[in-house]
Amino acid sequence: MRIKILVVEDERSISGFIKTVLTANGYDVVLAHTGAEAGAMAKSHCPMLVILDLGLPDMDGTELIRSIREWSRMPIIVVSARMHERDKVEALDLGADDFITKPFGTDELLARIRTALRHMHVPNEAAANDGVFRSGELMVDFEKHRIQIGGTDVHLTQNEFRIVALLAQNAGKVMTYDCILRELWGPYAKSDNQILRVNMANIRRKLEKNPAEPKYIFTEVGVGYRMIDNGT
Ligand code: CA
Repeated sequence: MRIKILVVEDERSISGFIKTVLTANGYDVVLAHTGAEAGAMAKSHCPMLVILDLGLPDMDGTELIRSIREWSRMPIIVVSARMHERDKVEALDLGADDFITKPFGTDELLARIRTALRHMHVPNEAAANDGVFRSGELMVDFEKHRIQIGGTDVHLTQNEFRIVALLAQNAGKVMTYDCILRELWGPYAKSDNQILRVNMANIRRKLEKNPAEPKYIFTEVGVGYRMIDNGT
C-alpha cells in the first residue's frame, strides 16, 4: 500500500519539488494550494499525513490545524520560514506534530515524515521497545529510571531524568517548551523557560562530550528541544 500525503503549499515551485521527492520515494501525493481546498481534501482523500505551509493565500495554516484536529489525529508537519518562531510554537501547541524550516533538504523532509508516521503507529515506541531508548552511547531505561553513557551510569536529578525520558519517548520530534513544562509540572505550569534552560544546561554537562555541540539533544531556537532520532 502506498501512503498518501496531502501537501498544502501555495508556492508551486515548492509544492512541485515536494511532490517530486515524495513520489520518487514511494508516496502518493495530493496537492492543495489554498486552505479551503486543503480542508476539503483532508476529508475526501483521507491522507495518512499532511505537510502544511503556514502562509496560505486564503487563511493562516494554523486555522487548518485547528479544524483538522477537531476530527483527526493524522500527523501534520508544518513548513515555515526560520524567522517565524512564534508561528511554529503556536502550530505545535495546536496539535501539529513537527515542523520543517525553509529552506529544507530532501533527507530532512523524508526523515521528518518517517518519524511522524512511526509515532502515529506506535505512540510510545521507545518505551514499548523493551523499555529502553538507545542512540549512540546513550541508553535511557524508562522503567529503572536509569541513564548511561557508554555503559557508565549518569546521575541525573529527578527533573533532569524526566526531561530526558520525555524527549527520548518522542525521539526525532520537537517538543515545545510549554509542552515539556506541562508534562513535568502539570497543565497549570508557569510558562517559565528559564527553569528548562537551567535543567538542560545540567543535562548536557552530564550527557554530552561537548555541551556546546550536543550530539543527543538539540535546541530548536525559540521553540523547544529535540532528541536525536534513533530509528532513521
Ligand atoms: Ca506560502
